[in-house]
Amino acid sequence: MDRFILAIDLGGTKILAAVVDQEGRVLARARRQTPQLGPVAVVREMASTAREAMSAAGLRLQEIAALGVGAGVGAPGPLDPERGIVFSPPNLRGWEDVPLADLLKEHFPLPVVLENDANAAAAGEWWRGAGRGADHLVYLTVGTGIGGGLILGGEVYRGASGLAGEIGHMNVLPDGPLCGCGARGCLEAVAAGPAIARMARQAVEEGRGRRILEHSQGRIEAITAQGAHRGDHRPGGGRGGARGG
Ligand SMILES: [Zn+2]
Repeated sequence: MDRFILAIDLGGTKILAAVVDQEGRVLARARRQTPQLGPVAVVREMASTAREAMSAAGLRLQEIAALGVGAGVGAPGPLDPERGIVFSPPNLRGWEDVPLADLLKEHFPLPVVLENDANAAAAGEWWRGAGRGADHLVYLTVGTGIGGGLILGGEVYRGASGLAGEIGHMNVLPDGPLCGCGARGCLEAVAAGPAIARMARQAVEEGRGRRILEHSQGRIEAITAQGAHRGDHRPGGGRGGARGG
């Protein structure tokens, strides 16, 4: 009998579940909002999202081999993949040393694998995505934050504390802008979406970036990183934010 894998992505705002086969093909998906009510409510919602994906795939629990969980814990709230514990992620209120793998086992009597979501995404790209066939891979995600994962020699490289690939909180600008983690000048505070939008708003306030303003209907407070990118080109020049100066 073919056996399948249940996968859950736990983020600060949403829970995604999917059923994949042994080739990595997605059979079904489900999506819910993350309840802001502490770990018990979140685990219950994770279980019911996973059950929804399972029934959408027409599968029973006996056909599932394992449960894989990628937790968007955000630094500096790491997790311990070996013990299945999530420490205190800044994006999940009321979480402190939560034995997430054990709590999920109460809902699903299956092997549960817990991993930092950026590491899990890196492994996914290496297995079935852009990094297929590569020995080493660096995975980066840029959105509200900057996350990263490393594959070295075909294995997830975690480093001493499981955060080896998390370059988002590497200091790149001493005394730079304050980061969500409490430190100053992290790459994330300088180069993630909100930072790009903030720099664009500042440029507009200083009388530059007229086109950026056009893309946000003339409202400085409505400028986003995407709008800034679209508006950031000069006649005859190329697009993009990589330009120096
Ligand atoms: Zn930081």
